[in-house]
Amino acid sequence: MKTYISPWPQAAKLPDFPRSVAVLGATGSIGVNALKVMARHPELFTVMALAGGRNGTLLAEQCARLRPRYAAVLDDAARRELEAGLPAGYSPQILVGPDAFTTLAALDEVDTVLSSIVGAAGFEPTLAAARAGKLICLANKESLVLGGHIIRAACHASGAVILPVDSEHNALFQGLMGLESDDEIARLILTASGGPFRGRDAASLAGVTRKQALAHPNWSMGAKISIDSATLMNKGLEVIEACHLYGLPVGMVHVVVHPQSIIHSLVEYVDGSQLAHLGMPDMQVPIAHCLGFPRRLGVDVPRLDLARVGCLTFEEPDLAAFPCLGLARDAYDAGPSHPVVLNAANEVAVAAFLDGRMGFADIPATIEAALDRHRPVDVSTPEAVLDLDRAVRDEIRRALWPDAD
Ligand code: NAD
Ligand code: MG
Repeated sequence: MKTYISPWPQAAKLPDFPRSVAVLGATGSIGVNALKVMARHPELFTVMALAGGRNGTLLAEQCARLRPRYAAVLDDAARRELEAGLPAGYSPQILVGPDAFTTLAALDEVDTVLSSIVGAAGFEPTLAAARAGKLICLANKESLVLGGHIIRAACHASGAVILPVDSEHNALFQGLMGLESDDEIARLILTASGGPFRGRDAASLAGVTRKQALAHPNWSMGAKISIDSATLMNKGLEVIEACHLYGLPVGMVHVVVHPQSIIHSLVEYVDGSQLAHLGMPDMQVPIAHCLGFPRRLGVDVPRLDLARVGCLTFEEPDLAAFPCLGLARDAYDAGPSHPVVLNAANEVAVAAFLDGRMGFADIPATIEAALDRHRPVDVSTPEAVLDLDRAVRDEIRRALWPDAD
């Protein structure tokens, strides 16, 4: 079976309970939801390490509640905030800087890593967890987009297991349960909400504001993924994520727009059956599924009442108004270095949009131009991936803001 990265129950070697967990990105949207899930089941989880980025104050509150042995932040300013917020008599080991996250991901005392840092910064910690043979609950889709081939190989060598937290991939994982052979799969169908601008044409998108783009109709998420949802790049990254997780060609991964976000994705089998996963759009559900797998854990989420929802609708994605989805599919097909370029260009463009330095329509244009300039390079090592990631970011910044320092 090719699809070893997400285990079927019979193949997976999973840590026993209580699981000893490192949460990377604890102060983000996924991290906060994961802490809620674990707080509801204290007998099943020991929070061993909490890592935040620059929000030392929130991390201190989380540490005060959960008393992890380790904490990590990105810089000294966040470290000072963290230290100032810790209660007397409790002093976790504090690590600072980007290397801290890879260190925590590979700690001997940790058996389960929730990878929920945003962006390419999640690649090295996820790889460290893969090399160290951990159970990886993966929210950080960008790490597979950058180097899914490298992470797969590391999992294969160490016995590490990845379970997908991303709701669509978690739905697929559940729909693939009990699969006997890969050739029984006809296709995977990812659902997309369509984001806040569904139904609008390209011309009307040019002037949309940051506030409008951040206002996702169904999900409450971090800023970067919210913009990715508005451009449909999120779905593009998810197509690539699905190809890596399930070892399938991009032609077998389809997308349908489903504005209610109740069906989280579908697996179509060769007999024409489609298995759908339904639930309320709340990330606690897939997070609990991964952290507790193969157990089902209770979560404090409103129950889905289909009679109240009334109707579920579906439509084709509009690739003309939202070119990012097509750019991502093409990038995956073009070879392993193109997705690195796609992701780096997207991260620079989204950050520039959020800072007010770029319009919404400039996001796909920036990515397309970077992909057009790119000539394939070897990205078979993590160093090569990271070099290319850096080079693309520098090139775009120089081209767009030549006067910046
Ligand atoms: P977020 O912005 O809310 O949180 C990001 C976390 O990463 C924060 O803790 C932040 O401090 C930390 N961080 C940011 N930059 C960092 C860096 N350079 N080094 C170390 N830590 C850093 O993001 P989110 O919405 O929680 O998303 C996290 C990841 O999960 C993303 O990859 C996203 O695509 C994925 N995801 C999120 C959702 C969701 O509903 N939020 C759903 C599916 C997948
Ligand atoms: Mg998703």
